[in-house]
Amino acid sequence: MENKLPVPLSANQITDHINSPVLAEMPDNTITNWSGNIIFNTKEISFTQTVAEVQELVQKHKQLKALGSRHCFNRIADSHHYLLSLKELNKVVTLNKEARTVTVEAGIKYGELAPYLHDNGFALPNLASLPHISVAGSIITATHGSGVNNGNLATSVVALEIITADGNIQNFSKAQDEDTFNGLVVNLGAIGIITKVTLTVEPTFKVQQNVYEKLPLKQLKDNFKAIIAAGYSVSLFTDWLTDNINQVWIKSRMEDVGLYNFEPEFYGATAATQNRHPIMEMPAENCTEQMGVPGPWHERLPHFKMGFTPSSGVELQSEYFIPRQHAVEAILSIARLGKQINPHLLISEIRTIAADNLWLSPCYKQSCVALHFTWKQDWPAVSKLLPIIEQELAPFNVRPHWGKLFSIAPDVLASRYEKLPAFKNLVSQFDPNGKFRNEFLNTTIYGGLKA
Ligand SMILES: Cc1cc2nc3c(=O)[nH]c(=O)nc-3n(C[C@H](O)[C@H](O)[C@H](O)COP(=O)(O)OP(=O)(O)OC[C@H]3O[C@@H](n4cnc5c(N)ncnc54)[C@H](O)[C@@H]3O)c2cc1C
Repeated sequence: MENKLPVPLSANQITDHINSPVLAEMPDNTITNWSGNIIFNTKEISFTQTVAEVQELVQKHKQLKALGSRHCFNRIADSHHYLLSLKELNKVVTLNKEARTVTVEAGIKYGELAPYLHDNGFALPNLASLPHISVAGSIITATHGSGVNNGNLATSVVALEIITADGNIQNFSKAQDEDTFNGLVVNLGAIGIITKVTLTVEPTFKVQQNVYEKLPLKQLKDNFKAIIAAGYSVSLFTDWLTDNINQVWIKSRMEDVGLYNFEPEFYGATAATQNRHPIMEMPAENCTEQMGVPGPWHERLPHFKMGFTPSSGVELQSEYFIPRQHAVEAILSIARLGKQINPHLLISEIRTIAADNLWLSPCYKQSCVALHFTWKQDWPAVSKLLPIIEQELAPFNVRPHWGKLFSIAPDVLASRYEKLPAFKNLVSQFDPNGKFRNEFLNTTIYGGLKA
């Protein structure tokens, strides 16, 4: 497959724009994604503040794409024609305490929604590693956190308001038609512009986070199930260089365990003596509080704090989902590539996600382990490594993260998504002329066919 994904920026351009908390616009009005590895193919953009404006723009433009917080690493959000940023459509619409749902405007970030929910006595079941991402942009790509029993963030969605290609407002809910709804949530931006999202919420809860260092790989091999189930959400960080997993992050819900006194040792790993960043060289002040200090769910479930740069900033990312029963085999096969991978890597993370019923979710009907790679921003090197990793994971029918970098051929991808034909049917009902198609969708989903 011809890989047209990232267009690298010069070092100066990246430094100037990488950490910009507002939409990165370069001097010539060029618009980039968060990490700066993608320059969007149009400079035409609107920042809408009302649903009526969204409707007007959808009617006016022959082709367009919505932008959330621009945290994807590939061209899934790109357009050659027009971009519609929803970052200002970011209010809480209603909190229904009885029904335990919250309805939000689609551009709201988890980091904006979470404190509001907590202050009102509610919580979401899980969060990704960072709160900086928009709700709509996240659910569209099946963004996830960790936890053996936690589904991805899209599994909390119970209703959607979408402006479809004709400019009309369409409302969909899980209660009304669950089967269609399961096809609509993880939609890769192909159905229309999402303007509102309704999520289920639960009573707020507290979490303690502890980090252990140097978990022997042999222990992981022998005790994988117990290790990943040691907390409500467990993440393993490794650079694949030694026979140890660098760090184990355990997030425990306090109503599960009460005030938990963490043991000094965990399967041969030792408790960290201070807060850590997954990338050892980076400052731990960017990270959520550790050392077992209890705190509200939204200040412990993400690894990174809202007001700080998450991860490294100058980076690329890839992530691969494997059926959970093959986790150990898959991890060991990547560990064997360690010397090849390590020079280009900032850090890898291993997480678990529960099975769901969302058609295009990588966890559709299968509980997964996810192997994530935060790469140095060197696309020529990374682009050579991805096919090697994908080949290694092919026996497990690996599925890639939709918002990160991958090179799996469209026909192979199609063979791993049994619901893809049904999804395309659904898209054709709401977007018959391909108003929301872009090169990413044409290549990845439609095998090179333009709308
Ligand atoms: C530092 C970092 C850490 C990350 N950590 C995680 C993690 O822990 N777990 C994980 O799974 N992923 C993670 N990601 C990936 C990221 O969460 C996903 O790529 C997510 O989709 C980003 O959401 P966004 O709002 O930035 O979407 P964007 O990149 O802005 O858009 C994504 C897609 O959604 C479409 N879209 C956005 N809003 C709308 C809308 N309102 N209506 C219709 N279409 C829309 C866009 O057109 C595009 O197709 C991370 C990324 C970064 C940069």
